[in-house]
Amino acid sequence: MDSGFENLRAKALEILSTKGMVDASVWGNDVKRLVEELSIHQIELEYQNEELIRVQAEVQKASEQYVDLFDNAPVGHLIIDENHNIVNVNNTFVKLFMLTKEEVIGNEIENYIAPLFKDTFYHFYKLLQKGEVYAQVDVKMRSSMRADLYVRIDGIKQPDSKLFRLAVSNISVQKRLEEQLRKETEKVIKRESQFRQIIERSSDVFYYQNIITRRFEYVSPNVNKLLGVSHNECMDLLPMEQLEFILPPFREAYNALPDELQQAEIYNQNAIVKEFQMITKQDKVIWVKGYYSLIRDMYGQPIQIMGTLHDITSDKEYEEKLKKAKDKAEESDMLKSSFLANISHEIRTPLNSIIGFSDIILTDYDKKSEFDIKKYMDIILKSGIRLLSLINDIIFVSKLDSRQMKVVKTEFDMNQLLLDSFDIFKPEADDKHLVLRYLGDNSPMIIISDKEKITTCLHNILKNALKYTNEGFIEYAASIEAGNVLKFYVRDTGIGIPDDKKMMIFDRFSQVKQTNFMEGVGLGLSIVKGTMELLGGEVTLDSEYGKGSMFTLYIPL
Ligand code: ADP
Repeated sequence: MDSGFENLRAKALEILSTKGMVDASVWGNDVKRLVEELSIHQIELEYQNEELIRVQAEVQKASEQYVDLFDNAPVGHLIIDENHNIVNVNNTFVKLFMLTKEEVIGNEIENYIAPLFKDTFYHFYKLLQKGEVYAQVDVKMRSSMRADLYVRIDGIKQPDSKLFRLAVSNISVQKRLEEQLRKETEKVIKRESQFRQIIERSSDVFYYQNIITRRFEYVSPNVNKLLGVSHNECMDLLPMEQLEFILPPFREAYNALPDELQQAEIYNQNAIVKEFQMITKQDKVIWVKGYYSLIRDMYGQPIQIMGTLHDITSDKEYEEKLKKAKDKAEESDMLKSSFLANISHEIRTPLNSIIGFSDIILTDYDKKSEFDIKKYMDIILKSGIRLLSLINDIIFVSKLDSRQMKVVKTEFDMNQLLLDSFDIFKPEADDKHLVLRYLGDNSPMIIISDKEKITTCLHNILKNALKYTNEGFIEYAASIEAGNVLKFYVRDTGIGIPDDKKMMIFDRFSQVKQTNFMEGVGLGLSIVKGTMELLGGEVTLDSEYGKGSMFTLYIPL
């Protein structure tokens, strides 16, 4: 007999004695004992009954609590049998799909699975049926009252039964967020790949550089095209090695970039632009325009420099050409003005002489001596020749300009030409007390070339030598070099040409301003240069300022 029963019995005896039901004087011992036993038993039963009612009430309460827990659980619950029929369902599930328990119980679970997910669900259920203790699946469920909802189903097999318990959680929001995230990620990936393509196809180089270590953290692969250095090599460059790609005058500016960028931000400038010269791995010097900005981390701390390098070498070359063209235009403008001033002088002087001396001759002609008339006629002749020579020069230049000048080749004796020139220029040299020396011999030097143009060049140079030499000598000679090049030179002990003017004197209308008055318009040497270009030859100049000059012409035969 267990202690619970003994307790009961003890309790019954106590109640009986208080009621005064046990009285040995009235009853015979046996009957008395039986009655006593029955009384005790009755009380026992009553008490047992009370206990039962209490336990029943407790069980009822627990059951109600369980049903409440089941019905109002935060997730939907379904109990399914092995034929996929719904045996029980909780309120949460039916509320979720706007149904009633009566509508759901007895239906096949598949009726509530969206068509596209039926296979998935089937596979999941098979797992459970095969004996898997636990399985999970994400599917879309629907009802006649409610559009598709994404749910997560956790399934377990009920122990010792053929029933399966499914917990259904609504994960629509989570799935929607996941989907949004996926779409966003896809977009980001797409955008990133577009940017990458833009960067890779661009001729500009993009980079990110750590602001502290100055090491590159990203360099676009096309750096190879700009600097001839491979992408990997570039990523490994130490700051000192980076400087080797920058021409020395620009290195300081490159080093100062981090400070300058932070300063620029103070003035609300997001980026700074710098132009500098770089040198490629193949030692080619290039001009680069860099756009730089500062990258900060989420705490506002500067972490990187973002740079874009744009090759502007051709722009710079073009700019240089434009500048040269502008300088040239300005110079030509200046030259034209000085030409006009010179030319008017050059035309007026001989014309005045011609008119003036003609007038003198004609006025009181009879009274003039023959000597005087001859003297005046000589001046008129020289002025006429000077005027003609100027007009010839202008015509020559304009013919060269309009490419109307033709090369006319004939056979002639070069030495004879030099001797004839001696006769022409000797009187003028004598007038200036200069020694004119022809250093060649008298034997013929027969060549085939454009005699007229060679004569013009020789005479222009001899004329200059006489014009710009005040004392000393002028000598000249010709030779054949390497069997097929005619070389001739004119050397003088004249005023010479300053080094910085040696190139420009071959330009049209340019003169070295050495005296206030100078005869000539600055066409002689430009005619020589133009003629050399036409004949495929070359003119060179050696001169020491104040000591003399030597012009040498080389003409291929
Ligand atoms: P022009 O003699 O008519 O001025 P050129 O074209 O013949 O023009 O010469 C251009 C300039 O070159 C001259 O004005 C002169 O300043 C300089 N020049 C030419 N030849 C000589 C020379 N032999 N010695 C010194 N200067 C010279």
